[in-house]
Amino acid sequence: MTVRPATEEIPLARPVLGAAEEAAVIDVLRSGQLSLGPRVPAFEQAFAQRLGVAHASAVSSGTAGLHLALRAVGVADGDEVVTSPFSFVASANAAVFERARPVFADIDPRTLNLDPAAAAAAITDRTTALLPVHIFGYPADLPAFERLGLPIVEDACEALGAVHADGTAVGARGHPAVFGFYANKQLTTGEGGLVTTVDEAVKERIDSERNQGRAPDMGWLDHDRLGFNYRLSDLACALGLAQLDRLDAMLAARADAAVLYREALAGIDGLALPCEDAGGDRRGWFVFVVQLPPEADRDATIRALRERGVQSKPYLPAIHLMTYYRETYGHREGEFPVCEDVARRSVALPFFPEISEGQIARVAVALRDVLGRK
Ligand SMILES: *Cc1c(COP(=O)(O)O)cnc(C)c1O
Repeated sequence: MTVRPATEEIPLARPVLGAAEEAAVIDVLRSGQLSLGPRVPAFEQAFAQRLGVAHASAVSSGTAGLHLALRAVGVADGDEVVTSPFSFVASANAAVFERARPVFADIDPRTLNLDPAAAAAAITDRTTALLPVHIFGYPADLPAFERLGLPIVEDACEALGAVHADGTAVGARGHPAVFGFYANKQLTTGEGGLVTTVDEAVKERIDSERNQGRAPDMGWLDHDRLGFNYRLSDLACALGLAQLDRLDAMLAARADAAVLYREALAGIDGLALPCEDAGGDRRGWFVFVVQLPPEADRDATIRALRERGVQSKPYLPAIHLMTYYRETYGHREGEFPVCEDVARRSVALPFFPEISEGQIARVAVALRDVLGRK
């Protein structure tokens, strides 16, 4: 065990990696087959089984998965994809890759997910898909989006372990749903992603397009469609398998940390904590994001936390106000007031399975101190 001094900076995120991950990766190294080997289908099948969904396709990143999933539901040049402006930029970028236009709609102030009524109002005759995001692991209102009758791709990159009110795991409703395995996610393969689906044709198309457009029954070097190199290596899938074995424990540890944070941060005037589960939906804990009191200076708060040994980060900035989106689509402040208010005030605090009670207490003391509310 590493002994860390009490004053060491508390990181924003840290993966749980141990002997099982080391052994799994060394096995692959010794096997000599680092890619296109047996760990890829093994990881896909284990992941699909855990969620209770028919198929899974491992890909090189969540972004790659979003790209292939949008292609698989038919999004093409000139289409519109209705999505959330309060997300990691990848969800909107994926539409742009296909020369489709991401059309934003405002978010629900409680869940911070795309508001189904606002999404419905943003639909035009060019809309060919909806791309709701399960932000911060809280289930988006899929039943409401399903009633809109358009193809859906789910960005579930932050939502491994989340469950809808009807008991379906997030990612198991049948629409292509995309997970991400970057090192801060609930499960990591270093970099990586995966698309779940109930549709065998979608699985086949994604498997082909992640591998240069090769058909499964075709010999080496013939390609019947355009594809990419979005493969995930056997090294990464071996890591993923080891992480799946400890996923329940990691998810439980994150949920426990969230409970401790709620207690430690209770009663700070004007500070909004992540919404509680409601109506049967269950969050898969990914990050602990607070919204600062409206009068607080967010950037100064982050700097002051850093001086007190606490990492934190603005999370997330509104996508439509990013330079590329302003310049390309002419977006301006004021279009999505709920999103913009939340984006301006949101700060992610250190949050990972092995965060200690003492570290959470230190974060809380620092935040109370910085906000001047001892
Ligand atoms: C992590 C994440 C992604 C995918 O990120 P990659 O780095 O490409 O794996 C996509 N959307 C959201 C909301 C995310 O948090």
